[in-house]
Amino acid sequence: MKILVTGGAGFIGSAVVRHIINNTNHSVVNLDKLTYAGNLESLASVSTNERYAFEQVDICDATELKRVFEQHKPNIIMHLAAESHVDRSIDGPGEFMQTNIIGTYNLLEQARAYCANLEVEAKAKFKFHHISTDEVYGDLQHPDDFIGGEGKGEKSESQNLPLFTEDTSYAPSSPYSASKASSDHLVRAWARTYGLPTVVTNCSNNYGPYHFPEKLIPLVILNAVAEKPLPVYGKGNQIRDWLYVEDHAEALVLVATEGKVGETYNIGGHNEKQNIEVVKTICQILDEVKPKAKKYAEQITFVADRPGHDMRYAIDASKIQKELGWQPKETFETGLRKTVLWYLENETWWQNVLSGHYQLERLGSGN
Ligand code: NAD
Repeated sequence: MKILVTGGAGFIGSAVVRHIINNTNHSVVNLDKLTYAGNLESLASVSTNERYAFEQVDICDATELKRVFEQHKPNIIMHLAAESHVDRSIDGPGEFMQTNIIGTYNLLEQARAYCANLEVEAKAKFKFHHISTDEVYGDLQHPDDFIGGEGKGEKSESQNLPLFTEDTSYAPSSPYSASKASSDHLVRAWARTYGLPTVVTNCSNNYGPYHFPEKLIPLVILNAVAEKPLPVYGKGNQIRDWLYVEDHAEALVLVATEGKVGETYNIGGHNEKQNIEVVKTICQILDEVKPKAKKYAEQITFVADRPGHDMRYAIDASKIQKELGWQPKETFETGLRKTVLWYLENETWWQNVLSGHYQLERLGSGN
C-alpha cells in the first residue's frame, strides 16, 4: 500500500512516517511545504529507506497536488498538514484560514478527481483520512466550575466530569480550532455529497520527541535546562488530556488502514492534567536526572493568560478502543520521562531548531 502523508515533516506527521517505515511494509510519500514547523531532520532515520519519498509541495497549490497524485498513485491519504499553533493563530489568523481551510479544500478536490478515475478494486480500498483536534469541540466544564470547585465551597474529587465523544457538538474558540472545525466540515461534506471515502480522527494534545520548542512541554524542558523562566499561562489550572505522539501515530495508521469509512474516532490518552502539574512533573524529572544547586520549579513564572483560553479538554476514546482495539502504551509518567530524556540526549536536533539552522540546511540541499 502507498500512503500519501501531508505534513509529514511536522511533529505528528514525522512520527507517522517513522511508524509506517519502521513497523509496516507500506510506502510513504511525504508531502510538505516545509514551513517553519517542517523539519526534515526529524526524518533522518528513515529518509534513505526505499519506501520513503519526499515532495516539497504546498497543499494550496492544486496543480502540484494533481501532479503528485498522478505520479505516486497513493492508496490512502493521511492529511496532517496544517498551521497548528494556537498563539500564532491569534497573532495572525490568515495563514491558518489559507492552509487549514483552502488547503484542505484543494486536497479534497484533487482526491475526488483522482478517486473517480481509479479502477473498481483500487477505488474500494481508497481512503481519505483527515487528522484533526479535540479543540473543535470547544472546552468542557472544569472541576472549579462545579459546586465544590475553587471559591465555591468544598472540593469534590469524585465529580463525574463530562468528556468529548464523537457526538459532541462543535464549538471552537480560537482561530486555529475554528479553521480545523471548518476543515472537518468540508471533509464530511465531500463524503456525503460526492461519496469520497473519508474517515476523521480528533485527538487530544500530543507530546513527545521532535516537538517544536514553541509548545508547552518542549519549551519547559529547554527553558529549564537553559536556566530561563518557565512561563505558565494564568493560574496554570487549564486541563489538557495528554497523549504520547508515538501512541497517536500508531492509532492513526490503524484508522487509516482499518478504520471504517464514514466514521469519526476520538483519540486520547486518559491523562487529564493541569498545565501547572505538567510543568512541576517535568521539574521533578529534571531534578532527578540532571540535578543542579536549585530546584527547577523555582524557575516557574506565571504570565498573563491567552485570550479565550479553553479551560478543559478531555477525550472519551472508548470507540477506537472497542472497534479497533487501540489503546495507548505509555502512561503520562512513562511518556513524559521518555520525552525529557530524549531532549537531553538529542541536543543537536533542538539546537538546530533554536538557531534556525534546520531551515538553512534545507535551502542548501535544494529543498
Ligand atoms: P506541526 O505544526 O508540527 O506540523 C505541520 C506540518 O504541516 C509541518 O511540517 C508544515 O511544514 C506542514 N505544512 C503547513 N502548511 C502546509 C501547507 N500549506 N502545505 C503543505 N504542508 C504544510 O503540526 P502537528 O502538531 O504535527 O499537527 C499535525 C496535525 O495534527 C494538524 O492537522 C493538527 O491540527 C493535528 N493535531 C495536532 C495535535 C497536537 O497536539 N500537536 C493534536 C491533535 C491534532
